[in-house]
Amino acid sequence: MDFETMDKTYVLQTYARNYVNFKHGVNATLFDDKGKDYIDFTSGIGVVSVGHGNQRLADAISDQARHLIHTSNIYLIEPQAKLAKKIHELTGFDVAVFFGNSGAEANEGAIKLARKYGEKKFAKKRYKVLTLEHSFHGRTITTVKATGQEKFQQSAFAPYPEGFSYKKAIEDLYQSIDDETVAVMIELVQGEGGVKAFPKEDIQALAKFLKEKEILLIVDEVQTGIFRSGEFLATSLYEIEPDIITLAKGLAGGVPIGAVVTKHKDIFEAGDHGSTFGGNFLSTRAGLEALSILDEYKQSGMLDEALIYFDGKLKALACAFPELFTTVEGLGMMRGIRCKNDDILASIIKKGFENGVLVLKAGQSTLRFLPPLTISKEEIDEGFKRLENACQMLG
Ligand SMILES: *Cc1c(COP(=O)(O)O)cnc(C)c1O
Repeated sequence: MDFETMDKTYVLQTYARNYVNFKHGVNATLFDDKGKDYIDFTSGIGVVSVGHGNQRLADAISDQARHLIHTSNIYLIEPQAKLAKKIHELTGFDVAVFFGNSGAEANEGAIKLARKYGEKKFAKKRYKVLTLEHSFHGRTITTVKATGQEKFQQSAFAPYPEGFSYKKAIEDLYQSIDDETVAVMIELVQGEGGVKAFPKEDIQALAKFLKEKEILLIVDEVQTGIFRSGEFLATSLYEIEPDIITLAKGLAGGVPIGAVVTKHKDIFEAGDHGSTFGGNFLSTRAGLEALSILDEYKQSGMLDEALIYFDGKLKALACAFPELFTTVEGLGMMRGIRCKNDDILASIIKKGFENGVLVLKAGQSTLRFLPPLTISKEEIDEGFKRLENACQMLG
């Protein structure tokens, strides 16, 4: 039985997979079982922040695996404490951290925290959470309900929990707030929804308004966080101080992890929330190493250099094919090029793949780029050369 048949027989078919069999990777280059190489502009959807086959991360993981992988949250977990301290330092805020295993789980934790805040803080309990259209907050029943995209809220999965609604635009949030609203949850740059960065003034005005009303601002930095925007948090670029920030994707370089980061340290008490795997030795040791690598990379100036270089190449590609593309979106290493339609988008991804370059799609016909943050100039050059060829084949 070949592996494609094995997958189709024994794995629940929830993904429209491309049956390439990758065997290993070096930074932003992947190699399949036939030895063909691919420039990876996806980093496993923003996860492999430090690149494939990163030696320092691999050494930290194997060292940790030989000592301890897991004991449970009943006991002290030294790398968990260290990673929480490191996150505290990198945010520059007076925050504490809860660790889970994914972005959706981090957002679930944030919602639980907000609802308990809503019960403790107000005479009449507040529980409603407002989100935005084109947002993406996860695939659990609750985070699907929080996600502002109709296609995810299928009636097949109903009923959904109450207390969620999504609005078309930031300005619509204001009039939707009532005396039962406890939080607004947003991405600063909407990833899955089309790589859309919100204007700084709009976000700052919203943050100020919510603070006055004592309503929580939850910023979902599952995709924008961990230097993806060029800063540790996109929150720093927007110069706001959210009540709760959620992290996941790039935090441990590929080992599953999620985090709820908050300045409201006295809401949860022992027993209120938990996770069997969350924050275990393996994932937090990987997180510590990934953050050290990325922090050093940022300090050295190399990340900023890479961002500028990538930006130049991206804009040149978009300009070269006005018949295919409209606008360039996003910031940092979270970028998009809007295509004229979904057919063009699908063809570029397919032709790009054949030419040995991996790119993603996002909502609103967007060709999406989430390369490893450590991608080299040579890999950027090669990837854009292959994409250009793919675009030429369409013209
Ligand atoms: C990917 C993503 C999630 C979901 O993360 P999972 O780890 O797949 O649960 C949530 N929010 C945002 C903004 C994301 O990009």
